[in-house]
This record gives sequence, C-alpha cells and structure tokens, in this order.
Amino acid sequence: MKQGFDVAVVGAGIVGLAHALAAARLGKRVVVVDRDAQANGASVRNFGFVTVTGQARGAVWRHARRSADVWREVADAAGVEVLQRGLTMIARRPEAKAVLEAFLETEMADGCAWRDAEALGDRLPTRGGGLGGLTSSVDLRVESRSAIPRLAAWLEAAHGVAFLRGAAVRGVETGRLETSVGAIEADAIVVCPGDDLVTLFPDSFARAGVTRCKLQMLRLADPGWRLPAPVMSDLGLVRYLGYADLPEARALRARLQAEQPAHLEHGVHLIVVQSADGSLVVGDSHHYALTPDPFARDDVDALILDEFAQVFGQAPPMVLERWTGTYASAEGHSLVETPMPGVRLVVVTGGTGASTAFGLAETVADDLLNLSDGAFA
Ligand SMILES: Cc1cc2nc3c(=O)[nH]c(=O)nc-3n(C[C@H](O)[C@H](O)[C@H](O)COP(=O)(O)OP(=O)(O)OC[C@H]3O[C@@H](n4cnc5c(N)ncnc54)[C@H](O)[C@@H]3O)c2cc1C
Repeated sequence: MKQGFDVAVVGAGIVGLAHALAAARLGKRVVVVDRDAQANGASVRNFGFVTVTGQARGAVWRHARRSADVWREVADAAGVEVLQRGLTMIARRPEAKAVLEAFLETEMADGCAWRDAEALGDRLPTRGGGLGGLTSSVDLRVESRSAIPRLAAWLEAAHGVAFLRGAAVRGVETGRLETSVGAIEADAIVVCPGDDLVTLFPDSFARAGVTRCKLQMLRLADPGWRLPAPVMSDLGLVRYLGYADLPEARALRARLQAEQPAHLEHGVHLIVVQSADGSLVVGDSHHYALTPDPFARDDVDALILDEFAQVFGQAPPMVLERWTGTYASAEGHSLVETPMPGVRLVVVTGGTGASTAFGLAETVADDLLNLSDGAFA
C-alpha cells in the first residue's frame, strides 16, 4: 500500500482517535493505522469515566474540561450515549470532608457543591457510610467498549478518516510509515501507541521512565437501584492530584495508611459507574511493571469489593465479569515528544486518557498542523 495523506496516526485507541478528530477538524486527510482488528487496549477496558473533578490543577484540568466538552459535542452524532453525568465523591471520614472542603475553595470547584448525607439521597440510593459528599455536574460517563468503535466509525463516515487495521507500524521517519502491509506517506505523523513501549521510539520511553500499570476491574450484576453519577470515595482523594496535592490530603493519607494499608499497598481506590442494563463497572487497583503479569488476584478484588460495601452500606451484587487492563505510566500526565521533524509521539502516562485526550490532541494538532504557511513543524 502506498498512499499519500496529510496526517497519519499510529494507534486507534482514544488518544489516536482524538488526534484524528483534531486533524480532520483542521481539514486534513487522515489515516489511522492499528495492528489490531478491533480496539482491544486500555481505551475499551476502562470505566469510560470522563473525569474533570480531581484532575491535576492547571493544564491537565483544562484538557479534561475541554475533553468533556468534545465528548458532549460528538456524542449524539457518533451514536455514543452519555450514560451518567457528574460525580458523587463520598466522604467517609472527617479528614476526607476536610479535603473536599478545601477543594471547594479552589478554582477547580466550578460546577461542584457539598451535600450532607441526607441531601445525597438522590445520588446515592443506599444508606451508605458517608458523612456527605461533593457532587459535580461537569464529569460524564460513556460505555467505552461500544463508544470507541462508534467514534471510529463516525470519524470514517462523517470526516472521511481512513482506517487501516491489522497493520503493525514497524518504523517511522519524516513523511513515511513502514507497516507490515507496506509504506504509507503522510506529511505529518502522530504516534499514539499506548503502552507499547518497545516497538517505536523505545529510547523516548526509557528516557521518560515509562513503565506499565496493571488494573483489575469487575462488572457486578444490576443492584436494583440507579446511580445518576459515578461514585468515588476517600481512597480516590489521595490518588487524584487535584485533591491529593492539597495540604489537607496529608492527614487523610495518614489515616488511610493506618486503617486501610492493604488498599494503599495495592493502589486500590473505588470508582463505581453504571451501564445501560443496570450492571455496575467497579474498580480498581494499580500494580507497576514493564511486563505486568496477566492474572487478576482475588484478594485484590476483595479489597475493591470491601470498599464498595463500606460506601454503599450493603454487600456487593454478584460478579459477572473480571478483567485486567494496562496503560503506560510515568510521572506526569503525558509524554509529548518531537522525535524528528513532522512527527509527534503522544502518550498519556497519567491513566486519564478517556478524560484528557481530546484536549491534549487539540494542543498537539495546533502545534503540528496549524502553521499559517501550511508547513509541518
Ligand atoms: C482498567 C482501566 C481503567 C481506566 N479507567 C479510566 C477512566 O475511567 N477514565 C480515564 O480517563 N482513563 C481511564 N483509564 C486510562 C485510559 O484508558 C488510557 O489513558 C487510554 O485509554 C490510553 O489510550 P491510548 O490510545 O493511548 O491507548 P490504547 O487504548 O492502548 O491504544 C493504543 C493503540 O495503539 C496500537 N498500537 C500500538 N503500537 C502500534 C504499532 N506499532 N503499530 C500499530 N498499532 C499500534 C494498539 O494496537 C492500540 O490499539 C483506564 C485504564 C485502564 C487500563
């Protein structure tokens, strides 16, 4: 295959699709190349939780705001249903309440409010163990396993983006990709390989100290009640940097270390989202290695389900599915490099690609493609 495009994107996960959209919106002819026949990476294994509230202050939070807007802009046209809106962050301890109160004083609290336990009744349909919680209106949730294929199909149909699947990219140089099925020529190239750290630009990954993070996930049976917004708890307040970087988080971390050391050791925190059929997607844990093992440990699942029981005040429903997922992980939100002219390597390393990729991609596309003389940087 030898064809000319304005832009070639390597990787059809959310980061690649976001760059395809940003380039198509700038009027470019785009091809997306992926080695898999269908999406199979982190982008279809996640919660589909587009989290704004709690993202790291500054650029990451702004990318998340913008990404949530883009999800809302494209959802209807792409046939992607927004299943839940907002966030309910339950505080089980006074130290957690203090973190949320401090958060509500920041510029990131736009669209957020504190509600006491009684007032949370419409957001938390069970009598859980919380003191109250923060509610937000800015976050949203999609069903990733259908949303990602639909987004790709819509990019193809509505924006004329070409997809070449089942083609592994073996080499990249300015203006050209070498794939397992032949060469592709493109003026600009964006490489979004997710957690493949060794095939393309391995030196960039090594220099940035990128490793991989494995997460355990569960789907639980319909509990018989409905959650209008995703639910999180105290453990999330020491992981999400928008909260965890606040000075008030230190006291919470110390108390969690004393009361839930195993949860912290396995990087367990709680996110509960609900699907159209009423089932709940629940997670997760965090284990780091260059090649994580593929096994889901029952004791780690038990920690996740224990936090569920504490927050909802009832035993978790039956487990329907278990899976693991991995993402590229390093200090900081993302790795964006220019390994050669006209080429960008873009990897979200903070585990928040569903929440931030659209905003990040617009920034990258602007820098790479939007030059007034039509050249590529
Ligand atoms: C279990 C889990 C839960 C998560 N929950 C959330 C969440 O709720 N909200 C959130 O914001 N984020 C969440 N994340 C993080 C988010 O899913 C990732 O940040 C995001 O999906 C990364 O997208 P990506 O496109 O970089 O990677 P991927 O989805 O892994 O896609 C990369 C693609 O590149 C292709 N590829 C790689 N190398 C080549 C090559 N050489 N040639 C051809 N193709 C190649 C792969 O085949 C793959 O399709 C979660 C992650 C996991 C694992």
